[in-house]
Amino acid sequence: MIRDQSTLDALLDSVGRFVRERLVPAEEEVAETDSIPTAIVDEMRTLGLFGLTIPETYGGLELTMEEEARVMIELGKTSPAFRSVIGTTVGIGSQGILIDGTDEQKAQYLPRMASGEIVASFALTEPEAGSDAASLRTTAVRDGDHYVVNGTKRFITNAPQADVFTLMARTDPADKGASGVSAFIVDARSSGISLGRKDRKMGQRGAHTCDVIFENCRVPAANLIGLQEGRGFKTAMKVLEKGRIHIAAVCVGVARRILDDTLRYAMERRQFGQPIAQFQLVQAMLADSQTEVYAAECMVIDAARRRDDGLNVSTEASCAKLFASEMCGRVADRGVQVFGGAGYIADYGIERFYRDVRLFRLYEGTSQIQQLVIARNMIRAAG
Ligand SMILES: Cc1cc2nc3c(=O)[nH]c(=O)nc-3n(C[C@H](O)[C@H](O)[C@H](O)COP(=O)(O)OP(=O)(O)OC[C@H]3O[C@@H](n4cnc5c(N)ncnc54)[C@H](O)[C@@H]3O)c2cc1C
Repeated sequence: MIRDQSTLDALLDSVGRFVRERLVPAEEEVAETDSIPTAIVDEMRTLGLFGLTIPETYGGLELTMEEEARVMIELGKTSPAFRSVIGTTVGIGSQGILIDGTDEQKAQYLPRMASGEIVASFALTEPEAGSDAASLRTTAVRDGDHYVVNGTKRFITNAPQADVFTLMARTDPADKGASGVSAFIVDARSSGISLGRKDRKMGQRGAHTCDVIFENCRVPAANLIGLQEGRGFKTAMKVLEKGRIHIAAVCVGVARRILDDTLRYAMERRQFGQPIAQFQLVQAMLADSQTEVYAAECMVIDAARRRDDGLNVSTEASCAKLFASEMCGRVADRGVQVFGGAGYIADYGIERFYRDVRLFRLYEGTSQIQQLVIARNMIRAAG
């Protein structure tokens, strides 16, 4: 759903310009230094990018899912590390509060997230609980008007920059499953929180993850999301369902960029006396990528519209994430092939994208987990 086409067009135009004029020229520097220049983060704040999904009442732009997807496709046309700067705050870090938080919790946190004053992260994964997130072991034990949290969270995006964590922890030790889990808003400066060293990743340099360790960290009971125990896993799944459409949109944007670079190279590079784009075997790779990017874009927009219409999009969000992330990997792989030897050499950028996009098939639910969700929904609907 598009609320106001001309406002959206203006936003897409400014994001597109920002990507072309500020982010693309900084890609190599970010990869070299493993950090995003402060000036760029400040410009993201000014553009309102931290508040894309937060309601206008709380100072955000209140984009619909379709609008958000279209903005992510634009923002995706550069190194994915840039999207990561705002990704957790507009997505998995804030949405739990927005979807299930109380009015007081929303009023306390969302305005500062929307302005980019505070960065939110999402802390679900643990060393022993990844795909099987419901088996998480971090505990939150009630003690007066606080909960005492102990445990370790792993691979938490933006943890080094985070001001606030949306934390999933077990409040009912007797319940080893999903219904023993609750969600909290935790101030990252609380005593009892320490960070592991930054993970050394395959790609997406400039975006950081690390362990977050809780040792007798006291969290006010008022920070239990929705003030209800046992709802945290459901909150996390609602957040991730929306996040899957968001990530799928980013995949479409990055794949589009990779394909643009690939096409340009194929038209410039000459072998056997002609541009390699004239060879039908190269054309087949270009055409397959074009077809798949288009298919993924259609899926993303359709899933987003259905969500905006209030429909259950568990299946469609997983289909879009599964297809778009796998598609993005294939487009990057064909890109390297079209670049030939240059595709393997870091100077050409395509090698960096090839590594960067590998992550999309892993986080916010691996491809196998998306397949399980889709098949489980199919079987449930049929039976
Ligand atoms: C860079 C990065 C950023 C991340 N950011 C965050 C974040 O901000 N917050 C957060 O909470 N987490 C984050 N994660 C964690 C991420 O979501 C998990 O890594 C992911 O869900 C997979 O869990 P795992 O790594 O434990 O793999 P595992 O669950 O151990 O899976 C290993 C393999 O087994 C397969 N597998 C597992 N179970 C099944 C099954 N039932 N059927 C078939 N195959 C199965 C998986 O698909 C995979 O191929 C991040 C991870 C990375 C790498």
